[in-house]
Amino acid sequence: MSREAVEGLNSELSGKMPQEILRRTVDLFGAANTAFASSFGAEDQVITDILNREALQVPVFTLDTGRLPQETYDVLDATRKHYGIEVEVLFPESSAVEAMVRLHGPNLFYESVELRRECCRIRKVQPLARKLSTLTAWICGLRREQSVTRTAVAPVEWDSAFGLYKINPLAEVSEAWVRDYLKKHSVPVNALHDRGYPSIGCAPCTRAIKPGEDLRAGRWWWEMPEHKECGLHREQQ
Ligand code: SF4
Repeated sequence: MSREAVEGLNSELSGKMPQEILRRTVDLFGAANTAFASSFGAEDQVITDILNREALQVPVFTLDTGRLPQETYDVLDATRKHYGIEVEVLFPESSAVEAMVRLHGPNLFYESVELRRECCRIRKVQPLARKLSTLTAWICGLRREQSVTRTAVAPVEWDSAFGLYKINPLAEVSEAWVRDYLKKHSVPVNALHDRGYPSIGCAPCTRAIKPGEDLRAGRWWWEMPEHKECGLHREQQ
């Protein structure tokens, strides 16, 4: 698919409901060549629910960094049971984690942006890259409103970092839309959302936000806002 084709799809899908974007994704790429990367946050739970309601048969996978909060494992398990689905759990290479911790200690992420990115690279980006190399398209729960690093998110993108299509069915929806959807459909959610965590990553790198703060202010809170991505979602062409 060319850049023009991606632009054409975005013209077609802009303003459409996430359900329609997901149906079109499966039409275009096939469920078997597509996968949904879930971290079991609010947006991801909406997508899992839509995939299930629409019977789209897209496989779901997640990255277990080894540093996730217990609440994330709890909602992973609740989601498996609620929908009767299999979730593929991807782990980092143990030898790479062992070498990193031996060299820099278990809390290296607090020491510098470079070491924080190295931890994300080993625990998240490498396992994701292995998985994405088997796919034609991946689905993510990004929304434009989430942060300064996500204002240009489009429903369909060419992910030049990993060499496949990236589908963001919630790109244009609001936080209120997500909240209403979850409530209306009684979707299982991470218990941390009700304790001030709108965005949830690894336990040592996530904290609750204060009223009025940016939705991702609790992620790597010691860093500048423009650094706050883990390498899974890089700037697209
Ligand atoms: S979020 Fe923190 S603990 Fe998790 S992979 Fe990145 S730096 Fe490591």
